[in-house]
Amino acid sequence: MSEQAQIIYTHTDEAPLLATYSFLPIVQAYAAKAGVPVVTRDIGLAARILAQFGLADDALGELGELAQRPTANIIKLPNISASVPQLKAAIAELRAKGHAVPDYPEAPGTDAERETRARYDKVKGSAVNPVLREGNSDRRAPGSVKAYAKAHPHRNRSFDPGSKTTVATMSDHDFRANEKSVTLAADDTLSIVLETTDGRQITLKAELPVLAGEIVDATVMQVAHLRAFLINALARAKAEDVLFSLHLKATMMKISDPIIFGHAVEAYFADVFAAHGEELAAAGLSANDGLGAILAGLDALPNGAAIRADIDAALAGGPRLAYVNSDAGITNLHVPSDVIVDASMPAMIRGGGKLWGVDGAEADTLAVIPDSSYAAVYQAVIDDVKARGPLDPAAIGSVPNVGLMAQAAEEYGSHDKTFEIPADGAVRVLNSAGETLLEHDVETGDIWRACQAKDIPVRDWIALAVARARATGAPAVFWLDDSRAHDAEIIKKVNAYLPEHDTTGLDIQILSPALATAYSLARLRRGEDTISVTGNVLRDYNTDLFPILEVGTSAKMLSIVPLIAGGGLFETGAGGSAPKHVQQLLAENYLRWDSLGEFFALVPSLQMYAEQAGAPSANVLADALDRATATFLENDRSPGRRLGTTDNRGSHFYLALYWAQELAAQDTDPALAAAFAPLADRLTADERTIADELLAAQGHPVDIGGYYSPDPDKTAAVMRPSATFNAALDTF
Ligand code: NAP
Ligand code: MG
Repeated sequence: MSEQAQIIYTHTDEAPLLATYSFLPIVQAYAAKAGVPVVTRDIGLAARILAQFGLADDALGELGELAQRPTANIIKLPNISASVPQLKAAIAELRAKGHAVPDYPEAPGTDAERETRARYDKVKGSAVNPVLREGNSDRRAPGSVKAYAKAHPHRNRSFDPGSKTTVATMSDHDFRANEKSVTLAADDTLSIVLETTDGRQITLKAELPVLAGEIVDATVMQVAHLRAFLINALARAKAEDVLFSLHLKATMMKISDPIIFGHAVEAYFADVFAAHGEELAAAGLSANDGLGAILAGLDALPNGAAIRADIDAALAGGPRLAYVNSDAGITNLHVPSDVIVDASMPAMIRGGGKLWGVDGAEADTLAVIPDSSYAAVYQAVIDDVKARGPLDPAAIGSVPNVGLMAQAAEEYGSHDKTFEIPADGAVRVLNSAGETLLEHDVETGDIWRACQAKDIPVRDWIALAVARARATGAPAVFWLDDSRAHDAEIIKKVNAYLPEHDTTGLDIQILSPALATAYSLARLRRGEDTISVTGNVLRDYNTDLFPILEVGTSAKMLSIVPLIAGGGLFETGAGGSAPKHVQQLLAENYLRWDSLGEFFALVPSLQMYAEQAGAPSANVLADALDRATATFLENDRSPGRRLGTTDNRGSHFYLALYWAQELAAQDTDPALAAAFAPLADRLTADERTIADELLAAQGHPVDIGGYYSPDPDKTAAVMRPSATFNAALDTF
């Protein structure tokens, strides 16, 4: 029964993968001295594609099972949630490297193609986190990060007087307004059926197993209303002469949001699609993949030049668009996964409500967030900043988060329960007795989605909220909207399970997201902390929003997932895989990725290992790392943004230096101190040489032999350019 305890460090994608090539050798060398095994598993996009076709181990499947055992101790770095264009690019790269993976079937016609498509659908979008997150989420800015931010505050800019920046969201007929929800009394297997107006029964999902106490809800985005809303928003942006910007979550909500994105592209380029829609569709150029994919495909079309001219005319005559990169001509409507609401909205607010136009100049924006479930949060922050001025990072408190996410709770818009409705009719969720639990009238093209939240995760989440409130003394606010059907069911559970805990002396409340935002901001301005206890989506959104306003980035977060089965999943920061950082590395051999999230994750992971393996020296490593990280912050060793400063690799060297010094200096474990003393001396003596070698490597393009599947040797060479540092580690 005894499974050997070990720490599993994940290989993922993009910037965190690059950073791993530099940081993991340090971790493994240090951990080995204390007898702590640190092994890797590759759950990057390329490896997951290969695994679907039996060409690599199914590491994700293995870790998903491990996460349900008390021995789990996994450090999870951010990975790509692949959009279709990214998936296709990864497939092309793998094929070019000789891997026998099939092309992505755009419109599967045969059984074999449908099978291939089903495999690819498993790696698309947010495919990793729901598998690993067998626990709820505890995310906060550690004290050392808040202290650093107070001493070195970033700038939250003020909105101009009379700023026209505002949020546009639907008032009805959207996911929030149409939501219906039930809590199941007993275990059952449900099904989802569309009965069409012309009398056909289309099974959308044959088997949906549910457990007693599980909340199931269903809702629909009525596309006719969505299109009217978008047309209205475009007209409003034009009339107010502000930038039109669309903010979705096409990665996590991988079925629904690319479709909504496509409607926005079609609304903006209505004349283009009226004139050329059939030709574009026949060529497989879909608005859902974005303007960028359409433009890229035009050269191959007989009419391509004319279509391009019409697109240019639409851009010239339509409302001004926000640009992701005006130098490169990349608009807000180019790629569905370029603008992600949880990162884009806080960045816009931090920047005084401005985005960039075609000319690279800043301007106010109409931030279009079609579904109204959470849009009010951003409007509340904008209102607050407009009324009271920007938040001052040197003075404000904190809004940590306890988020519901275990066992794929509230995975809205993803997975296998979201459908673009093929015919007018009614969608019903039926129980095994054939009774209708939930029902919506639908029209062709509507986006219907169901979602689940099991009872055990909800209980665990409530317990975690109480535990954090107890540990910190801060008020805990459940961000729940009693006018939403799903939230009303959750509120019943909160009211039922809270009394099972000792809450004497604790301040625990339930507020709607808009009120909770205003309440938390008021406290934040007084320097006070308020725990936001949220569902899965706001977990994601709030852990970018508040960190970005408080400490300038979501990268420096402690992100713990206490697994329900007893193990630990340690996520690194709250950000993603930072594709822009890879571009910079390739262009100028400079990686601005900040690995603080990895440092923070490693501390509780080592502590958990100490407990799992009965190995107190792992605690010594953890304590030393914790102190080293504080020194690292005090000495401002995080990567800069520009060439010629300490980058990711340099930051790893300084962490290694401070960590070795702490280990050499501690007296809890004299053997470990003796083992590290020579290394600490050597790194201290060679600091200048190593720092110079690392700086000298910067400033020219590099080749790592791939993007989704970079060459390990080339990448290691790029990410470990200091011969002196490498020799010190190798001989350690
Ligand atoms: P992102 O990766 O968080 O990057 C947005 C920006 O945040 C970066 O350009 C960077 O800003 C900053 N950033 C994030 N982490 C950072 C770090 N450790 N150090 C320094 N800066 C950091 O968000 P995204 O571009 O929306 O998403 C990219 C990919 O990551 C997508 O495929 C997305 O689905 C995925 N994602 C994964 C997870 C996860 O696995 N847990 C979470 C979120 C997103 P600057 O450019 O200013 O340096
Ligand atoms: Mg997020």
